[in-house]
Amino acid sequence: MGEQTPYFVSVDEARAIADRTPLNTTAEVVGLELGDNRLLATDLISPIDDPPFDNSAMDGWAVQHQDTIHATPETPVTLAIIGTLPAGETSTTAAAVEAGQAMRIMTGAPMPEGADSIIQVEHTTVDESGQQVELHYPSKPNFIRRRGENISAGQMVFPVGTLLTPERLGLCATMGFGELQVQGKLKIAIISTGDEIIPVGQELKPGQIYESNSHGLAALVKWLGHAPTIHPNVADDLNSLRAALDEASRSADIIITSGGVSMGEFDFVRKIMEDEGDIHFWRVKLRPGSPPIFGTWKDIPIWGLPGNPVSSHVVFRILVAPWIRSQTNASGPREAKVRVRLADAVKVMADGLTLRRINLEFTPEGLVGRVTTHQGSNNLHGLATAGALTLLSPGTSGAVGEWIDALLL
Ligand code: AMP
Ligand code: MG
Repeated sequence: MGEQTPYFVSVDEARAIADRTPLNTTAEVVGLELGDNRLLATDLISPIDDPPFDNSAMDGWAVQHQDTIHATPETPVTLAIIGTLPAGETSTTAAAVEAGQAMRIMTGAPMPEGADSIIQVEHTTVDESGQQVELHYPSKPNFIRRRGENISAGQMVFPVGTLLTPERLGLCATMGFGELQVQGKLKIAIISTGDEIIPVGQELKPGQIYESNSHGLAALVKWLGHAPTIHPNVADDLNSLRAALDEASRSADIIITSGGVSMGEFDFVRKIMEDEGDIHFWRVKLRPGSPPIFGTWKDIPIWGLPGNPVSSHVVFRILVAPWIRSQTNASGPREAKVRVRLADAVKVMADGLTLRRINLEFTPEGLVGRVTTHQGSNNLHGLATAGALTLLSPGTSGAVGEWIDALLL
């Protein structure tokens, strides 16, 4: 590692350095049915007004409001029925509603000429002849849904980078888009290192543990809308590691490794990056998760995450995800920061962001946070059952009763 390599940097410095390492993004066209959790590659401008025409918000009667203003249950107003407009009515020749008249209308049917308001069916009765309707209340002009009140033609509805959530996909269909230009999914290679880790499905031998990081990291990659590939585990051995990184760099846009970035004799990810890679920073003021290394391997950005499962997850959330989001202009998935009152004390690190796992309780006074699980960075149960991570900067208090920021998990 050169003299100048940034070492033990703050979270903000790490993010700034990472942001100077660009990612190439591509675009592709997908059908709406495949748009879920993708990122728009272009601004989306509505070609149409929505609603495309004035229509009724109620099943009821289209009338002239002036006719109805004196209607009460005791002194109903009687109007002549002139026809029926169902939703989907396409004829433009429906009769105009004149004074003294009412047109039966269904929710979503176009407003007939002449009518300026709707009275819902529940407030009316039709006489025995079926020719007349009695109104027990005045009609309501605001039961008309106006053309363009939701979206107007030419409106920029979603900027580039918008994450297509279910509700946004629905709106894309409302605007009539059958296909969308989305960003290509980033191909993210995940490589776990360590002589002691074995894949699930095999029998544990003495000294071995199941490899878990790749599974959590792959799910985090998918959560961001990208494409993980879990590569075979790599032993603590320089040649195997070099071969694995070379292999990944031929196909991946980003490489994420776990393990082997600390100070130990067998921390070969750090060693190989020092000797053969390009390190942009190593170690971050973050607890848990201080060992990460970031740089490039054969020009491909590489994140060397710590092996401890809680640490690798936390570093992904705090550093890797924000970097990918900023490189892709992604609007999501959003990180929700909340205010929490501590019910248990948290020891705040003097030299780094303290991310303790807390459980949340909703109370009328707001969220209350408790430290209920073992906080060791190897103990994934604590993270898997936590509701949030504390975001405690150096110098802030983690005393009982403090209101602090926390990141929802
Ligand atoms: P390291 O960063 O390689 O020193 O690993 C730190 C700790 O995390 C050790 O106890 C490892 O056994 C454990 N560890 C490393 N990689 C993984 C993994 N992929 N899954 C589960 N635990 C791991
Ligand atoms: Mg290791």
